[in-house]
Amino acid sequence: MLPNETYDIVIVGAGPAGCTTALALKDTGLKVLMLEKAIFPRDKACGDSVSWVVKKVLNEINPDFAKELNILEPKTYINKARLYSPKNDNIDVSFSKIGYCIKRIDLDNWLFEKACKNPLLTVRQNVSVKNVDYIHNGIKLTTSVGETIYSKLVIGCDGANSIINRKLTNNKIDRKHHSGAVSQYIKNIKELDSSKLEVYFVKNFLPGYFWIFPLSATEANVGFGMLSETISAQNIDLKKSFYQIISSSPGVKERFENADFNGEIRGFGLPLGSKKRKISGNNFMLCGDAASLIDPFTGEGIERAMQSGKMAAEIAIKCFNENNFSDNFLKQYDEIVYNKVWKTFKEHYWLQQILGGREWLVNLFIKFANIPFIKKQIPKMFY
Ligand SMILES: Cc1cc2nc3c(=O)[nH]c(=O)nc-3n(C[C@H](O)[C@H](O)[C@H](O)COP(=O)(O)OP(=O)(O)OC[C@H]3O[C@@H](n4cnc5c(N)ncnc54)[C@H](O)[C@@H]3O)c2cc1C
Repeated sequence: MLPNETYDIVIVGAGPAGCTTALALKDTGLKVLMLEKAIFPRDKACGDSVSWVVKKVLNEINPDFAKELNILEPKTYINKARLYSPKNDNIDVSFSKIGYCIKRIDLDNWLFEKACKNPLLTVRQNVSVKNVDYIHNGIKLTTSVGETIYSKLVIGCDGANSIINRKLTNNKIDRKHHSGAVSQYIKNIKELDSSKLEVYFVKNFLPGYFWIFPLSATEANVGFGMLSETISAQNIDLKKSFYQIISSSPGVKERFENADFNGEIRGFGLPLGSKKRKISGNNFMLCGDAASLIDPFTGEGIERAMQSGKMAAEIAIKCFNENNFSDNFLKQYDEIVYNKVWKTFKEHYWLQQILGGREWLVNLFIKFANIPFIKKQIPKMFY
């Protein structure tokens, strides 16, 4: 039997949310444990598009971190997107700030190693949280290796299937506010531009999109995602549909004629931020996918995972300063998170609803996207 342990804070999950929380808690003197069920470097199904906000969050925590991300290789520098309508019209949109495409195995491992450099942080990999219970004055976690860990504050950064969310809130998966997506690494795609995200709105597969996100001049992360409500209503097999788009969709199929399908196709759920949830309570906060903070239109969640991780660390410090871990006190976390994201999420949900499923409208939208007012709105869809 392993000994029981006590920490001020336990971060569950070492993805972008967990590692950012740990980085933002460095130098606080608090005794922090980060538990991770995988072993790093670990991969995660993703599109690998990393918005400029990621660098901004790192810069706010420590400008050196942002500088190090600047020189992290390999990556591509993204300054535009091309959107294709179901009729195959297209429009190019430039971004005012540069984003990146970085394989998640590289980005997450870099963040993880950075977080682990803090000597006051204890990190355990290959350990999964199996149970969560309230005890007097805190939370008791039981792990896959039989430990019992006590903590005043638990920060749930454990992704889309978060056990912290499941055990401590009444939040349920709502398919209207949830997507499914698959992705694969593919080489030798024709006409790949390493500075451009490509998004195809495909006939019969709305609301959702097919993407080609470049990782080099020859390799891309290629994927396809749809709203879960539509996936179940139409009984859609995402993997089959992905290959169907690649093999038969006009404008797409030509580009994959000589493609090299090396990587494994992987899928995962995306809890979207288009519905407000309770993301804190007595002795806990949720960040990133555990808090359902994925953009309802673009499907991007790395930046929100990191923003919410940083905010959770700031509120955690307040909790210890005021020795208050109550539901009422922690409500301020929900407030600052939703103050940051809700306006954009509401607008992007609106876009998803208006364009989603209405093929003629997407065709019209992209056909007339050169009209200055429309063109001005498009970069906002992404970042
Ligand atoms: C196919 C697909 C494409 C996507 N494309 C993009 C994109 O291009 N750009 C973008 O910004 N976002 C994208 N997203 C969303 C993005 O992947 C997530 O928003 C992001 O990973 C959230 O980070 P996180 O730290 O909250 O969770 P995660 O990255 O999922 O990390 C959670 C961590 O918790 C660990 N964990 C889970 N359960 C436990 C447990 N019980 N005990 C201990 N540890 C646990 C996991 O092993 C994992 O390491 C995509 C998602 C999918 C599915």
